[in-house]
Amino acid sequence: MPKRPKQQGRSTLAVHGGTPHRGPGAPVTSPLSQSVNYVQDFGTSEGLVYTRYGNTPNEQVVQQRIALLEGAEAALVLASGMGATACALLALLRPGDHLVSSAWIYGGTRRLFSEEFVSMGIDVTFADADERRIWSHSIRKNTRAIFVESPTNPTCRVLDLDNLATLAKTQGVALVVDSTLASPINARPISHGADVVIHSATKYLNGHHDVMCGVVAGRSSYIDEVRQKMIVWGQAPDPFACWLLDRSLKTLDVRVRRCNENGMRVAEWCCGRAEIAKVHYPGLPTHRDHAVAKRMLDGFGGLLALELSGGAAAADKFVRKLRLITHAASLGGVDTLVIEPRYSSHAHMTSEARAALGIPDGFLRMSIGIEDADDIIADIEQALQ
Ligand code: PLP
Repeated sequence: MPKRPKQQGRSTLAVHGGTPHRGPGAPVTSPLSQSVNYVQDFGTSEGLVYTRYGNTPNEQVVQQRIALLEGAEAALVLASGMGATACALLALLRPGDHLVSSAWIYGGTRRLFSEEFVSMGIDVTFADADERRIWSHSIRKNTRAIFVESPTNPTCRVLDLDNLATLAKTQGVALVVDSTLASPINARPISHGADVVIHSATKYLNGHHDVMCGVVAGRSSYIDEVRQKMIVWGQAPDPFACWLLDRSLKTLDVRVRRCNENGMRVAEWCCGRAEIAKVHYPGLPTHRDHAVAKRMLDGFGGLLALELSGGAAAADKFVRKLRLITHAASLGGVDTLVIEPRYSSHAHMTSEARAALGIPDGFLRMSIGIEDADDIIADIEQALQ
């Protein structure tokens, strides 16, 4: 039997995955084809190329590379992470269906499920993953999917995908994982049995705070259905966004590894400070999901959260004193950012509801970037004083 070619490493896939070998005179990087439409053959609908269909050259290059990085049959790039989540689930759910969602999800996703899906006749149960047997107890006859985020934004919890995949398979429902915080460098949910992987590519995949995109990866037949949702709901990305994403993917592996190193350094330093009451980082042996994180992740990431001993007032002072670290929403980029979820992703909730999710007032989310760790730490130190 002919030998199968060896699977390339992730750094190699991030740089070359999906791009054909190029002959003399060919450009080394994929050229930007900013055209929305392409000349069409006569008398056929075959081969119709249009940006909203997700089949222009720059869209196809990144889709193939991300599918390879995730170990998926196919991937689709959409206009945002929210667009990706909406289209991924609309391809699985119909009115009258039921979705079991982790309660530990990004605030925007929670709104999509609890406001939009519910108004479309899709029933949603939010499960607190700390409750024993919550997943199996929440499954009903009309349940079609389990949705989780791991690691979670902003609480940095890590879920056991192996257990969830076993349950999903025995119950005949799809396991959908938002793997934004891990990126394909730190986790590949499909290798743990997930059916669908979602990313806000605005975060680590692009990583420079200059592109908004989303990704859905999974089986080819399913991705075709997501593509139909993307087309009619108008969620396709612009070619330039795909070109920028393609360029950024080439450094994904080095960026994420540096964020992993810096995240660990900053988390360990913060643990020794009296001004900081709690550090949430899955790489710390004291983190409640550390054992699960070691099994699920190849790196602990750049996202961490701090609870200051002085509470909300201390958090307000801290963010104003920072000099290097930028006070801004979003995460997963080269610049270190800080934000309070009570004024951003979770602003629509009451203080009590946030506290019940483990996000008390004064909770600070930090997305550690690729600067020198010593400089990030020095900025935190001066702002604590
Ligand atoms: N999923 C997670 C985990 C997120 O953190 C976010 C945004 O912060 C999203 C999805 C939504 O992504 P976007 O802002 O690209 O629509």
